[in-house]
Amino acid sequence: MTTLSLPSYIDPAHTGPWGMFLEQLDRVAPHLGPLAEWLDTLRHPKRCLVVDVPVRMDDGRIRHFEGFRVQHNLSRGPGKGGVRFHPDVTLSEVMALSAWMTVKNAAVNLPFGGAKGGVRVDPKTLSTPELERLTRRYTSEIGTLIGPDRDIPAPDVNTNEQIMAWMMDTYSINQGSTQTGVVTGKPVSMGGSLGRRDATGRGCFVVAREALKRLGRPLTGARVAIQGFGNVGNAAARIFHDAGAKIVAIQDVAGTLHHPGGIDPHALLRFLDGDPRRLTAYPEAGVIDNADFWSTDCEILLPAALEHQITADNAPRIRAKLIVEGANGPTTPQAEDILDAAGCTVLPDVLANAGGVTVSYFEWVQNASSFFWTEKDIHDRLDRILSEAFQAIWELAAARRVNLRTATYIMACSRVLQARAQRGLYP
Ligand code: GLU
Repeated sequence: MTTLSLPSYIDPAHTGPWGMFLEQLDRVAPHLGPLAEWLDTLRHPKRCLVVDVPVRMDDGRIRHFEGFRVQHNLSRGPGKGGVRFHPDVTLSEVMALSAWMTVKNAAVNLPFGGAKGGVRVDPKTLSTPELERLTRRYTSEIGTLIGPDRDIPAPDVNTNEQIMAWMMDTYSINQGSTQTGVVTGKPVSMGGSLGRRDATGRGCFVVAREALKRLGRPLTGARVAIQGFGNVGNAAARIFHDAGAKIVAIQDVAGTLHHPGGIDPHALLRFLDGDPRRLTAYPEAGVIDNADFWSTDCEILLPAALEHQITADNAPRIRAKLIVEGANGPTTPQAEDILDAAGCTVLPDVLANAGGVTVSYFEWVQNASSFFWTEKDIHDRLDRILSEAFQAIWELAAARRVNLRTATYIMACSRVLQARAQRGLYP
């Protein structure tokens, strides 16, 4: 007899990330004027696809994984957002992540709606051939939703250029023609964009640099604590370090490094040599308790891992003056209230980590025109788009006397709901 556990997407109380998103909508509602009457649109994802992903394992057994693709809103263009492989992925998490993509894409005015995908799997337990089979079957299963002008996946937690290459190849084979524009974050050799790999970390740097100017604080010598040394965290660490800031703490799955004199992220990357478990063996820094990471004496705190990290429990211990949300959804609304009251500025995920999807947009445009830009073009345009978005949001926050998250939501939700209202209801 087989025992079936409850599907992971049963979350009747709407706790977790989706509940957090609903609360963020409640907070922006009073600021939307007549457009608020359309806000219920954003409380309902447009489409949620749950798929079974059967994979033949190397030992011959077949295992079944849950896969998801959610298109939260398509009012402003095709769906856009990453795919994550993680054992904790659930439908309600993917719903929230797709909703944050709707807000993020509109906040920086990219012509995309919001989408996200995921597979509930720990990819560390799979061999490379198993990972490839999982990726290809998942891609084929969501093939009814994705496409260069329908919905364009990209990397997220535990997915990378190789996985995007397999996704592009699988979709192309099923379509009968090479479709480079179906995913972004591909290897440069097959239509990827220069500058995409570091784009999220670079974007975190750009908005932090602009915020420091507004706050009248120097970037040179600013002490930065980073949670997560994956794609976002390690790029941000290198770019902040190269610009004269000091990386005083780095937390990753293996533990937490601390060095008041500064950690050289280039040297740390060389030491890790691709194995994150080596982190705490790094001889040039001390190791501290994971819980003590949050009270690190620093000016900038950069969460670049998963949701729900800064909560009402640890927020009172945070000493940073500026939080840059490299991750999606790292701060709960209750923690944000505590940080606001303490005078800590929070650069919200939907602005701070928008550099990745902005360069994804550049990649998609390059694929559509088959004309490729230089790395300098990418950096300059990314810098301009994010700096301008930051200035507009900073000024809106001051004019409306709200924090930067609510200002970003006012800007983004107004754009989405205006498009929604003008497109009207069919039939
Ligand atoms: N996964 C990234 C994000 O959360 C990038 C998405 C994309 O490039 O489409 O913003």
